[in-house]
Amino acid sequence: MISFLIFLGVFLFMECVTWLTHKYIMHGLMWYFHEDHHQPKYAHPFERNDIFFVIFAIPSIVLFYYGVEGGINYLFFIGLGITTYGFCYFMIHDVLIHQRFKWFKNTKNKYLIGLRKAHKVHHKHLGKEEGECFGMLFVPFKYYKV
Ligand SMILES: [Zn+2]
Ligand SMILES: [Zn+2]
Ligand SMILES: [Zn+2]
Repeated sequence: MISFLIFLGVFLFMECVTWLTHKYIMHGLMWYFHEDHHQPKYAHPFERNDIFFVIFAIPSIVLFYYGVEGGINYLFFIGLGITTYGFCYFMIHDVLIHQRFKWFKNTKNKYLIGLRKAHKVHHKHLGKEEGECFGMLFVPFKYYKV
């Protein structure tokens, strides 16, 4: 039970981390890497922006490494929370919203449509400043109204 709560807590916490990272780092001093993601079309299969997957993978790998020492410990579940969040982020942001893979295009799910709308609003801004909707899995309720 406690492991599940750790997992869930980390998962929710990652949304805050994402919001802060996106607003202050990706749209801040690492804008160079995020910039190509704000261009209208994907020019290449990979974007410079993908570097952020690598950056977020490092703590998870370290946590998994130490999380299995002497049986599975709490570090493992922290790592699992980060990895699961990363997976959801990828499915929502890269697959559902940006259609890097054409998997579930015609969703009727209100929550998913809301997420997509909110992120399109984020992409209206091509520049570094004055962005909105930096979160990914939690967006303002107004976007759920059809
Ligand atoms: Zn952005
Ligand atoms: Zn984009
Ligand atoms: Zn995007």
